[in-house]
Amino acid sequence: MDRLVGAAYLPLSKTGVDALDTILLLQEIKERARAEESLRETFTLVQRAKQEWEATADSVPELICLIDDRGRILRTNRTVESWHLGRVVASKGIDFHKLIHSDCSDAGCYLDGFLDRARVEASAGIPTELEAYDTILGRHLLVRVQPVLEPKRVGPGTTVVVIQDVSERKRAEEALRRHAERLKAMNAIEAAIVAARSPEEVAQAALSRIRQLVPFHHARVTLYDPPTDEFLVLAADANGCTHLRPGRSLPGFAFRGCDGRSPEEYHLIADLVALDDRTPAEQQLVEAGMRSFLSIPLVAEEEFIGSFSLASAQFGAFDAEHVRIVREVADLLSIAICQAQLYRRLEQANRELQRALRTKDEILQNVSHELRTPLFLIQGYIELFKEGPLGPLTQDQAQALDILEAQGERLFFMVKQLLDMKALDGRALQKVWVTLEPMLKKILEAWKTVAARKGMRVSLEITPGLPGLLLDTDLFKQVLQNLLDNAVKFSPNGGAIAVRAWQDEGEVRLAVTDQGIGIQADQLTRVFERFYQVNGGLSRPYGGMGIGLALCQAIVQAHGGRIWAESRGEGEGSTFHVALPVCQRDDAEGRIL
Ligand code: ADP
Repeated sequence: MDRLVGAAYLPLSKTGVDALDTILLLQEIKERARAEESLRETFTLVQRAKQEWEATADSVPELICLIDDRGRILRTNRTVESWHLGRVVASKGIDFHKLIHSDCSDAGCYLDGFLDRARVEASAGIPTELEAYDTILGRHLLVRVQPVLEPKRVGPGTTVVVIQDVSERKRAEEALRRHAERLKAMNAIEAAIVAARSPEEVAQAALSRIRQLVPFHHARVTLYDPPTDEFLVLAADANGCTHLRPGRSLPGFAFRGCDGRSPEEYHLIADLVALDDRTPAEQQLVEAGMRSFLSIPLVAEEEFIGSFSLASAQFGAFDAEHVRIVREVADLLSIAICQAQLYRRLEQANRELQRALRTKDEILQNVSHELRTPLFLIQGYIELFKEGPLGPLTQDQAQALDILEAQGERLFFMVKQLLDMKALDGRALQKVWVTLEPMLKKILEAWKTVAARKGMRVSLEITPGLPGLLLDTDLFKQVLQNLLDNAVKFSPNGGAIAVRAWQDEGEVRLAVTDQGIGIQADQLTRVFERFYQVNGGLSRPYGGMGIGLALCQAIVQAHGGRIWAESRGEGEGSTFHVALPVCQRDDAEGRIL
């Protein structure tokens, strides 16, 4: 008998054949055992995978359900138990909607309707989701429905529903939204309060805007007046309740209770009706149908200045959040009311100051006007004395007359400054075309004599061909005379004064430089203020009234020009600059272009 042994056919005896059969049988048994072993291993692996999947599905906080084409549960995870909807094992076969809403009899239930729509979408391979607050579960849910990846394995129409509880996130979002709204409203209140000018406007601004944040039926802001022990109603929102009309004063006792309750203290009353000892003001609120009441004192610089109170027809209408908001607004109110009061006082002081300044100006003008006539007379008689018709003078008398004449001129100069200042206020300029050079030369000629009295030299440097200017010559001469007068007055004997004129782009520039006492940097702009003198006061070493430069500035500005001072400091001399705009003239027509 031939047997295939290994790769060759061998001739075998019967014993040999039996032995071989036994070997083959043994081999077959072994192979079967091996196959069974591998089947067992595969089974164990499948079991483990199943357990792992279940452990994973059970460890997530979402509710996961596998539902069949008729909406019945095929499988669910342990979340069904932690949400107290039923037991995992008992859920199999239950209608999904019944599992979530066991007692729901609402034919239009949002979840049921959504699930129907979502299953249709899922059958087309489209996942759907819905976010809604579930009143039955008391949770905010995010429901996602999606088709299974291999429906052949679990049956056609099978879908997976995953429900996530997003209540926590929603609460945080809601808190954030409320916080943002509050901030916005508080900013609006702050802006309105800051923009308000009077204490009444401030209070009204707070009342009209706080309604967005705190519900109330009555509200009032009162200001306390300690000497009279009265409360003045600054603003009220009280549904036409007349005793709270703004502008009314209420006696202090109307707000004080027997148990020491007073507007100086914060108090929150959940139920006014339950109070045994109501203040007259609280009694009025009860009669107006109010139940709860909140009063916050207004305090500025540690002093009680008034109170801010709200009332509501609802019992316990004000919670901790409302109290916090009202306190914040009360703080803002306190500061703003104080500022508004200060502003009002400042305005009043300013008005009084303006009135006093006007009176002072009028007196100065009147006095100057009255001084002018006797001064003319004095000057006239001095001239008569000097010219001789009143008889010959001794040398001493002639010298005394010179001094009188110089002082008379000075007095006349000052009176003229004052009158010019007034005249400039409402006067229209009388402008004519002027060539600067001859005008400057003429004025400087006269000032050379004045300067010579102090041993001073005056020089003039003019760029030839300067354009003509449109000037009110009388006024403009005043500018030059004031600058030269100061240059002489604030210089020691024997110094030099330089006057320069040149063109700089669209302007004609003029500068008067002296070698005098100089001006400190912080005084360079102040010297142009009316009546300002660097060394002012009774002991001032130099004469004058402090209006020369103010007058110069007014005249230069009326001509559309600029004036400013430069100095390197005390003892370093000063330069006063004037810049006047160059106007073009159409000579043929005499018009300004
Ligand atoms: P007044 O000369 O009558 O005091 P001004 O208005 O002309 O008034 O000048 C105001 C002040 O500016 C002077 O009191 C003086 O302190 C300062 N000032 C003006 N011109 C000069 C100058 N050339 N040098 C130094 N200080 C000056």
